[in-house]
Amino acid sequence: MQQMPATGCMFCQQGAKMVLFITGVCRRTCWYCPLSRVRKGQDRIYANEKEISSPEEAVRIAQRMSALGTGITGGEPLDRMDRVIEFARVLKQAFGEGHHIHLYTALAPGEEELQMLLGLIDEIRMHPPAECWNTIRETEYFRTVRRAREMGFSVGFEIPALPEVGQLEAVLPDLDFLTINELEWGETNANEMRRRGLHPEDSVHNAVSGSREWASGISRHAKVRFCSSQFKDSVQLRKRLIRVARNTARMFDEVTDDGTIVYGIIEGVNEVPSVLRDYGEDMYETRDGVFETAWWIIIEEKARIGGRKSVIERYPDRGIIVEVTPVP
Ligand code: SF4
Repeated sequence: MQQMPATGCMFCQQGAKMVLFITGVCRRTCWYCPLSRVRKGQDRIYANEKEISSPEEAVRIAQRMSALGTGITGGEPLDRMDRVIEFARVLKQAFGEGHHIHLYTALAPGEEELQMLLGLIDEIRMHPPAECWNTIRETEYFRTVRRAREMGFSVGFEIPALPEVGQLEAVLPDLDFLTINELEWGETNANEMRRRGLHPEDSVHNAVSGSREWASGISRHAKVRFCSSQFKDSVQLRKRLIRVARNTARMFDEVTDDGTIVYGIIEGVNEVPSVLRDYGEDMYETRDGVFETAWWIIIEEKARIGGRKSVIERYPDRGIIVEVTPVP
């Protein structure tokens, strides 16, 4: 059966959604919580992988990836309601009404909170605790689904693929969508995973063995989207990196199929090597006394260039360095 993902999912699949982590603070203590040590419990804000402190920085990062939307996540975003409203408002002002914003929350916002979010948040993705999945239609989450849909929000659940996930079939007729994330092994949940007899699928990926099967029955439903750990890494992240790389690459940066950029550096020389001048001003840049240029210039002209030479591969927009290869 053809799956109809949430609108937020469609932008995410194109790598066109900025991930706005609004706070690491959360009152819940889910045993499977995937947050890293750096983020868990910390009242910090990240746009994609960069820590930021203002909505204007979020706008700049969204511009650099030509974002078509934003996913607000956490921690518990609604524990910082003012911040959610401020960031969403500035993003909508900068990119227009059509900038699609979805909000993850593990709470069930009431009427007053929904009114505050109206016009700023397009899609609400609630994460009810697994303990209430078998009685989901009697919970506050169910009441919020009804209320929020009447108010015009698109409303669904976003939950991990736990053994009990099939219980949510009872609520599918009332949801716009159900997004199921493959359970992921992480540094902060590893002990609890082990205690429950769970283990990673293999030594490369962090998907938990069995998680996909637990969701296989319900995932056949048209409103359900199963988001695998591998898909997040190999498609969503890669596409997002490629968008950023294409927007921020210099004339001499090479953008790889993985969305990283490759360039060459020359260290330990006092002035621009004359050979770089020959290629023109667009083909080099000086940063903190280091000369950066095309990797192939470094290779082809190495006999005419002094100092220490290397080829660098890194995430775009001065992201983390993946590899440094010295050029003898
Ligand atoms: S609600 Fe979300 S952020 Fe909070 S503990 Fe559970 S998984 Fe982690």
